[in-house]
Amino acid sequence: MELTELTITQAHEGLVKKEFSAFELCQAYLARLEKKDKEISAFLTVTKDSALSQAKKVDDMILEGREIPVLAGIPCAIKDNILVEDVRCTVASKILENYIAPYDATVVKKLKEENCLILGKTNLDEFAMGSSTENSAFGSTRNPYDLSRVPGGSSGGSAAAVAANLCLYALGSDTGGSIRQPASFCGIVGLKPTYGAVSRYGLIAFASSLDQIGPITKTVEDAKIVFEAIKGGDELDSTSVESKIANFRVPAARVQISNLRIGVPKEYFIKGMDPEVEKVIKEAIKKYEEMGAKIEEVSLSHTECALPCYYIIAPSEASANLARYDGIKYGLSESKGKDLLDVYLKSREEGFGPEVRRRIMLGTYALSAGYYEAYYLRAQKVRTLIKDDFDQAFKEVDAILTPVSPTPAFKLREKITDPLTMYLSDIFTVSVNLAGLPAISLPCGKVGKLPVGLQIIGKPFEEEKILAIGEILEKA
Ligand code: GLN
Repeated sequence: MELTELTITQAHEGLVKKEFSAFELCQAYLARLEKKDKEISAFLTVTKDSALSQAKKVDDMILEGREIPVLAGIPCAIKDNILVEDVRCTVASKILENYIAPYDATVVKKLKEENCLILGKTNLDEFAMGSSTENSAFGSTRNPYDLSRVPGGSSGGSAAAVAANLCLYALGSDTGGSIRQPASFCGIVGLKPTYGAVSRYGLIAFASSLDQIGPITKTVEDAKIVFEAIKGGDELDSTSVESKIANFRVPAARVQISNLRIGVPKEYFIKGMDPEVEKVIKEAIKKYEEMGAKIEEVSLSHTECALPCYYIIAPSEASANLARYDGIKYGLSESKGKDLLDVYLKSREEGFGPEVRRRIMLGTYALSAGYYEAYYLRAQKVRTLIKDDFDQAFKEVDAILTPVSPTPAFKLREKITDPLTMYLSDIFTVSVNLAGLPAISLPCGKVGKLPVGLQIIGKPFEEEKILAIGEILEKA
């Protein structure tokens, strides 16, 4: 097998058995990246030198006969809104084009403690706002399955990099679907953890009550390994909790398919959904039934409010979070302004792209005096109703199955001029963030040559269970 086609477990075994060195593994990926990424454009920064020296370090450990952690020497990529010390972190925005991260995000620190090997930083929609990676200030990423299509977004660079074998796994972030939807479009696995399961320290904030970092991998097992490495409470993020999640490497209670009750929400099979996608999803659900799971219809009755609710709350939080980019504290500065206000305005006008400006305007409007109650406060109440729907459903079932997206990967430029159509592609993913739940996206079939993902939603901190449920389908 090619070195660039291995999973994490296979690569780790190969390193331990000295079938190849970490240096060879790293070189194989760098060579492929150099060749292939010309057409895919998944990477914004490649950290070749530090990757190669890290590989040598891991090889030394192996030569000394030391036991290496499972992620040691395994080439990975990091979404460019997560800080890696001394490496440029752009959030795909002109405003941070030359910003060098002064410290490691907690997730990166944890990966480094495992002697991880970082190949570089991946493209995204500017400030993670988008569903296609076309909102990047540095050009679009392309879908490895069809170069005329988008990889999804906003973690499109991470998903395309894993799908095209440019790295073994990647980190993404998910505020309203940005791990799951690109994973679905690129035919790989994406896990959006429970809110608070993974530290957000060092993640450039978009909407702080919704953002979570998670793994993008080729297999469910790999997702478990990466999640295991990055999860846990962090005193630098007061919303993170030391999770009750079991240690995956100790064989935990296996999920018995015959004891499994799986919910299918009737509100998720809607008009406007691609009938071919619906067919693939329904076949996957049927497979679970054939294997012995009990399938029940559940109702998440506020589903139709989720998208409008998300598009009030996320922009409101974004408008507050992005106030710090003023041309003084960080990044791009248009210092030729006639006074301080002018510097602020000019820097922001120069630095932010159209979608980011649209969100800031939406959010500022929703939070302004006189409108706050009508929009923001009401959206918060709806958010509670959405959460209540899930609590109710989870009294009856162990997990909920839905599509990830109403369509497979769409064409580049197809939706970019119509923001509302673009927002509609988040219809099945945003509720999970509003409710703070864990969910995975896993490939379950194809429409033509394009992959389709199944979403498995679980109760808070039941990552282990949804991953096990996913593994059952993956093996079938
Ligand atoms: N597509 C959604 C948005 O544009 C979600 C983005 C995300 O999860 N970061 O807001």
